[in-house]
Amino acid sequence: MHTQTHKLLQALPKVDVLLSHPHLSALNPRILKPLIQQHLDALRRSILAHSLATTYPKLSESLAHLKCPENSQSTHTLDSRATLTSHFTHALVESIAHDYHAHLTPSLVPVVNASGVVLQTNLGRSVFAPALLDRIRPILTRYCSLEYDIAQGKRSSRYTHANALLKALFCPEYEFLLVNNNAAAVLLILNTFARDKEVIISRGELIEIGGEFRIPEVMKSAGSLLIEVGATNKTHLCDYERAISPNTAMLMKAHKSNFAQIGFCEEVDMRELSALARSNGLIDYYDLGSGCVADIAGAHYVAGAQAEPTLYEIFASPPSLLSFSGDKLFGASQVGIIAGKPELIAALKANHLLRALRVDKLCISTLQATLEAYLHDELDSIPTLSMLTLTRDTLHQRAQSLLQMIESHALKHISAQIVEVDSLAGGGSLPDRVFASMAIALTSDTLKANVLESRLRREFHIITRVSKEQVLIDVRTLLEGDIERICQALSTIESSQSTKD
Ligand SMILES: *Cc1c(COP(=O)(O)O)cnc(C)c1O
Repeated sequence: MHTQTHKLLQALPKVDVLLSHPHLSALNPRILKPLIQQHLDALRRSILAHSLATTYPKLSESLAHLKCPENSQSTHTLDSRATLTSHFTHALVESIAHDYHAHLTPSLVPVVNASGVVLQTNLGRSVFAPALLDRIRPILTRYCSLEYDIAQGKRSSRYTHANALLKALFCPEYEFLLVNNNAAAVLLILNTFARDKEVIISRGELIEIGGEFRIPEVMKSAGSLLIEVGATNKTHLCDYERAISPNTAMLMKAHKSNFAQIGFCEEVDMRELSALARSNGLIDYYDLGSGCVADIAGAHYVAGAQAEPTLYEIFASPPSLLSFSGDKLFGASQVGIIAGKPELIAALKANHLLRALRVDKLCISTLQATLEAYLHDELDSIPTLSMLTLTRDTLHQRAQSLLQMIESHALKHISAQIVEVDSLAGGGSLPDRVFASMAIALTSDTLKANVLESRLRREFHIITRVSKEQVLIDVRTLLEGDIERICQALSTIESSQSTKD
């Protein structure tokens, strides 16, 4: 081995020395030790491959300033070795600490949604109001009656809690069941009633929701046989009627949640489908996707789009079974809500698959708090609905206060103005509706729009969009404290620009 290489290897610090280094000693040693070993190994490999200059450029530069220890006296060599070691230690400690924090800093963090898209699956879908959170805090921080009947002192079922409220709100004759999410609801329903049996569905409804949820694949997983009828744009009642066979179990309708068809198109109303199913002794099931309680006013419809019935309207003449998500327009947290005739819900409860899809107390308590808000008509405490029903005046006021606050920072390089924009409901809901909104359009004379967007996102977790070389901050989806956070971010970015002047 080359003496130089040998000297470098000899100078590598010991694991224990690194473990007790003042910059590392406060970190969890169980996680730290393997990390130190990895970094030492990598450095060792790099020395052996003579590639320090490329893999550790900073370190290699600082080593280049040292005297080569090769030709030195023995005492001098020792000294040099200590110097080398301290250079290695310095470089290693820096990169180990960086890796430790990069891996272990929680990555699930709050963000500012300035995109204007109210239900963003990527941003956690529906937001939960702080006031409702206060109601569920004691349920989560204490023991609770999850599966306990307090009056009888006996075991009971976790499904009773939301059931009573859901019945009272929507349909006293029906029973309700909760599962993990709406995808789980579809799976459980198909698996319970249509295993090895045929399910008839329109070709126009073989939807993909995103995140790999596709109706045909879910049918396959549930063991059901997909019978598609009609054409992509048009399906008639007689298409379903003709497809019914002795092996048919169910007529299913799926809501076209995330896309809209306009023009030459036609679908069968669920009530007609229910009547056909009942006269043939079949189950009628409606996968509603996003159940909405309120009529979302204030949105303008794309020409030809159909009105979206509210849950109350659907429950006026409900299909035998229906399901929807709790965290789309319903505004609670992730849960799949199934409603159905009592004997059908009883059959679902008897399916062992339910155990794998069961909801926990966190999910039940957030739903319960949301249902209570609905019961008392406190629609203001459902942020999803509040955001979708903001008036033009409120949006304008909000934009005005954000603009004023930005202007009060007297930014030199960033300018802001109010613009009118369109926002969306998102999250696979109301695809054919556009919500007129207001935004602050930011431009910078030193940063390109996409650079400003990226700095706001990466350094301050503020999610915006870029349009026509402007960064748009849609005020519809801003929550309490967001305006201050945005101003803070802009002035920090501004001062980092100014110091470069
Ligand atoms: C969103 C949606 C689903 C999936 O619901 P999750 O709650 O996301 O699992 C299923 N079907 C339809 C029609 C949907 O819109």
